Amino acid sequence: MSHFDIIIIGAGPSGTVTAAILKNKGYNVLILEKQKFPRFVIGESLLPRCMDNLELAGFLPAIEKAGFQKKLGAIFRDKDAKCEFDFSIQYTNGWSWTWQVQRGQFDHLLAQEVEKQGAIVNYEATVTDVEFKKTHDVTVSYTDKENNAHQAHAKFIVDASGYGRVLPRLLNLDKPSDFPSRSAIFCHVKPQRIFDEEERKRIIIINHTQGIWAWVIPFSNGTTSIGIVGLPELVGAKTGSNEEKIRSWIEEIPALKERFTDAEILFEPKQVTGYSSSTTSLFGDSFVLTGNSAEFLDPIFSSGITFATESGVKAAHLIDRELNGENVNWQTEYSDYIAIGVDVFRSFIQFWYDGTLQKIFFTKDENTQLKEQICSILAGYVWDISNPLVTKHKRAIPTLAQIVS
Ligand code: FAD
Repeated sequence: MSHFDIIIIGAGPSGTVTAAILKNKGYNVLILEKQKFPRFVIGESLLPRCMDNLELAGFLPAIEKAGFQKKLGAIFRDKDAKCEFDFSIQYTNGWSWTWQVQRGQFDHLLAQEVEKQGAIVNYEATVTDVEFKKTHDVTVSYTDKENNAHQAHAKFIVDASGYGRVLPRLLNLDKPSDFPSRSAIFCHVKPQRIFDEEERKRIIIINHTQGIWAWVIPFSNGTTSIGIVGLPELVGAKTGSNEEKIRSWIEEIPALKERFTDAEILFEPKQVTGYSSSTTSLFGDSFVLTGNSAEFLDPIFSSGITFATESGVKAAHLIDRELNGENVNWQTEYSDYIAIGVDVFRSFIQFWYDGTLQKIFFTKDENTQLKEQICSILAGYVWDISNPLVTKHKRAIPTLAQIVS
């Protein structure tokens, strides 16, 4: 059996960022990844906060070289109303830009970078079981592409398996999300009139009716990701193939119609339902959950990769301290920390779906100071407790909505 300090399940952004930090601290790291890369995954619009984490992992120069689309902000649209957030005008002194990425290529690049840093990435290796013998004594069972069984040993396990949710399933940690099940149908398209260089630099979020919204994420190669999100009975109400459904949504939503009526659809659109998830605990003896395996809220504010990398960085530092003999309080130092940011986004998501946020976004009387604070939340700086909206999100947003309306 091969022996490692740390075994990480999954080579998505959470797994590779965690691996890079640990490898750079001198640990022997193995990533077991079920799929062959590059593989498609949704989640293409990053937030400025995750740049801090990608930088700590040493990934920025390689990403910069790959020529992904730079993202400077977000535009929210509701019929004729428009609200624009520019990440360079925000409360927190953080990154003012980030990228919009094709995830197959992006995740593959991060995995290649972490291999260059010395971590081992074992593709087409599916983790099937994890046995916790005693503290810092764990055996991981996995199968290879020929379905041959293998085992590897580690002192600590990081579950970064995303929607695979390996440890939550094996250890019964799954907990239903607070949010109702929602559905998304999405694809990549090539518009007849491609977005010009300036237009490409922002994600566009279109508010439709009955809690339905659409994303438009332009890429640097002229193609665009579009998706429609809402309750499954509404998103799934269209008939026909997924391509017919998405064309029908394009015709129904004016801001999509004006741009994508004649667009070429580049692959059969995909539909996912019930992706929000939660867990009863983010850690246990000799293991930690990071990224989507720990929690996923909702796609509306593109928070997924920021949480995936933030939790990865935090977990890596705590694992290092624990393996160096320190007594780590995982509840306060990990779970409670992660919860600060998750709770802020949870409120924002709730206030988006009940229409409260839209009142603030689309008011004619903009308040500059408030807008900067909101912009920092939308940039992912949800752990900046000097921002009043981080500490008072539950009460502040409804109060502000009442004032503006
Ligand atoms: P993943 O990227 O899912 O990686 C997990 C890896 O684990 C996978 O490669 C998988 O193959 C591997 N794995 C699974 N099971 C096993 C196993 N048994 N053994 C070995 N390996 C295994 N986020 C954003 O930041 N921006 C967005 O714009 C955005 N849009 C979204 C839109 C939709 C409709 C949805 C549903 C999500 C969106 N997200 C977005 C969220 C984003 O997809 C995730 O948060 C992000 O991919 C999480 O990264 P991760 O590393 O935790 O998991």
